[in-house]
Amino acid sequence: MTVFAKPGADGSLMSYQSRYDNWIGGKWVPPVKGQYFENPSPVDGKTFCEVARSTAEDIDLALDAAHAAAPAWGKTSVAERAAVLNKIADRMEENLEAIAVAESWENGKAVRETLAADIPLAIDHFRYFAGAIRAQEGGISEIDKDTVAYHFHEPLGVVGQIIPWNFPILMATWKLAPALAAGNAIVMKPAEQTPASILYVMSLIGDLLPDGVVNIVNGFGVEAGKPLASSNRIRKIAFTGETTTGRLIMQYASENLIPVTLELGGKSPNIFFEDVMASDDGFLDRALEGFSMFALNQGEVCTCPSRALVQSSIYDDFLERAVARVAAIKQGNPLDTDTMMGAQASNDQWEKIKSYLEIGKQEGAKVLTGGEPADLGGDLSGGFYIQPTVFGGKNDMRIFQEEIFGPVLSVTSFTDYDDALSIANDTLYGLGAGVWSRNGAVAYRAGRDIQAGRVWTNTYHDYPAHAAFGGYKQSGVGRENHLMMLSHYQQTKNLLVGYAQSAK
Ligand code: NAD
Repeated sequence: MTVFAKPGADGSLMSYQSRYDNWIGGKWVPPVKGQYFENPSPVDGKTFCEVARSTAEDIDLALDAAHAAAPAWGKTSVAERAAVLNKIADRMEENLEAIAVAESWENGKAVRETLAADIPLAIDHFRYFAGAIRAQEGGISEIDKDTVAYHFHEPLGVVGQIIPWNFPILMATWKLAPALAAGNAIVMKPAEQTPASILYVMSLIGDLLPDGVVNIVNGFGVEAGKPLASSNRIRKIAFTGETTTGRLIMQYASENLIPVTLELGGKSPNIFFEDVMASDDGFLDRALEGFSMFALNQGEVCTCPSRALVQSSIYDDFLERAVARVAAIKQGNPLDTDTMMGAQASNDQWEKIKSYLEIGKQEGAKVLTGGEPADLGGDLSGGFYIQPTVFGGKNDMRIFQEEIFGPVLSVTSFTDYDDALSIANDTLYGLGAGVWSRNGAVAYRAGRDIQAGRVWTNTYHDYPAHAAFGGYKQSGVGRENHLMMLSHYQQTKNLLVGYAQSAK
């Protein structure tokens, strides 16, 4: 067991600045209106730094810097860009523990996850796109014996990116790595709940990038995000956040006819067919682990498996074991490597989850475990903690239909395959899903029949850089990760050349 010291304390691996300006043109630039907002840690509820509260004027400064940098960056060779991405990955790896602590402190998530998943995945993302851009090829169409159509990939130019607070550094990386690899300059607005961890990373890697290629402007959604998404000086806007905000982003972008990619909310089903119980072996254990994954990252995951569907023939036996497993989840100080579940990311989110605990009870759902906020006492008593909670109920309840974005699981039963599919697809969303069965044909068929962009079969919550990720229905537009993401940050130039030396 290791308990990391909090940022700035004696023996800590990193320390946050007490005040953060914006990162524009390769340097710290104070907000034009001189305003800052307080940034509390969800671990103890206390403010640890203040951050630029930006407005349209700051977005304009960042766009100026990005436009100045974009032409030269877009003309670099793919090998040069790949080298920069690899250097960023190396620098982050050298500072992995410090970045993991920074992320846990600002977001409240358990450091064992930031050490083992969030930051290693972010590092790998830079490496993957360093390789992907070098492997990308254009295309040639032979029109006739004298005529050829060449297809080239060109960067879009300056792009806008807006991200949420649940995986601050990983979400930033999902957007930065492909956009940089494709040769674009970027203006990014992080979430106001987690504005500082990406700035800490910029302070580590900023010297590796030409000035103005990456610009980070902090502030609130309408004050800073809207001027970015509505600007006619960007060639694309990439957004991750709530479905309702995604709708606004699309409206803003439509004014300038620029492309959008949207990664939005979810209410992912996790289906357990009766054969998972066939014997008490490792497979059942994996399935039980998959059930309890709704609590990973305190449930603040867009693909949180927040609806469990368990076949009625095994419902009681399976639930008995599954609930015992959930009750054993160790909650505590996020900076303790033994802690499995930390704090919710903000006071607002904590209040929202508590209101859903009440909604579930009022709807008549049965509390199978948890159901209350958690007071962990001592230094953590001001933090935002919730007990991992399992409700039993029906799919038409609000707790089954609305995204709670917390460690709250709603469980129901199904009779057969068709019943499972109809419950699974009875949702506005279509981001993630899980299917657990020893029968490969059932798992495959369910995987194809569920209307979701990512279906895990006999596994859950894996996020390799080379698997496409994105939503069906109200969960999004476009994809992230995978080679195909490059095309979301590129134009296709077609050069159609006639080589004939004489009249045809
Ligand atoms: P949010 O929509 O409230 O905020 C996301 C970002 O948008 C923030 O930076 C915010 O400041 C900005 N914003 C808010 N209003 C804006 C406006 N009018 N114009 C421009 N920008 C604006 O979402 P959140 O609460 O930060 O994040 C949680 C949501 O994100 C959940 O719904 C979750 O499912 C979703 N999410 C999706 C994915 C995915 O890949 N599909 C990944 C992570 C999170």
